[in-house]
Amino acid sequence: MDQNIEQILGAKGVKPTAMRNLVLDLLLKQKTAVSLAEMEKELSPVDRITVYRTLKTFEEHGLVHSVEDGTGATKFALCDTSCMNASHQDLHIHFHCIRCKSTVCLPAVSIPLISLPDKYQRIETELLVKGVCPDCAG
Ligand SMILES: [Zn+2]
Ligand SMILES: [Zn+2]
Repeated sequence: MDQNIEQILGAKGVKPTAMRNLVLDLLLKQKTAVSLAEMEKELSPVDRITVYRTLKTFEEHGLVHSVEDGTGATKFALCDTSCMNASHQDLHIHFHCIRCKSTVCLPAVSIPLISLPDKYQRIETELLVKGVCPDCAG
């Protein structure tokens, strides 16, 4: 497991540290996107700033991406292995379940190219679908 974590970090050009290994290990265990507060709770007594800095480093290296799901808390999810650097664009849909409040990546569904009116410059496209997840629908 540890070796796997160091391989993942290494593949993205991130130097392994005890903290990075810990945060990545936690992210690997998640089935849904997690907020900073949730991660802080799991990693206690590590403080929020340290967790945040680690996530920012991961984000810069294309290891995680942030998700705004309308709950007010930024959540983080691991990126596909194909995201290699800061210019990674996760053009996939995020799904937020209104019942269990979980948010997941749906990497198999890509966001269609949206054409903007003249003089509007796109930086990134985020697409969040709200609904009921399979667990809650069942
Ligand atoms: Zn649900
Ligand atoms: Zn995602």
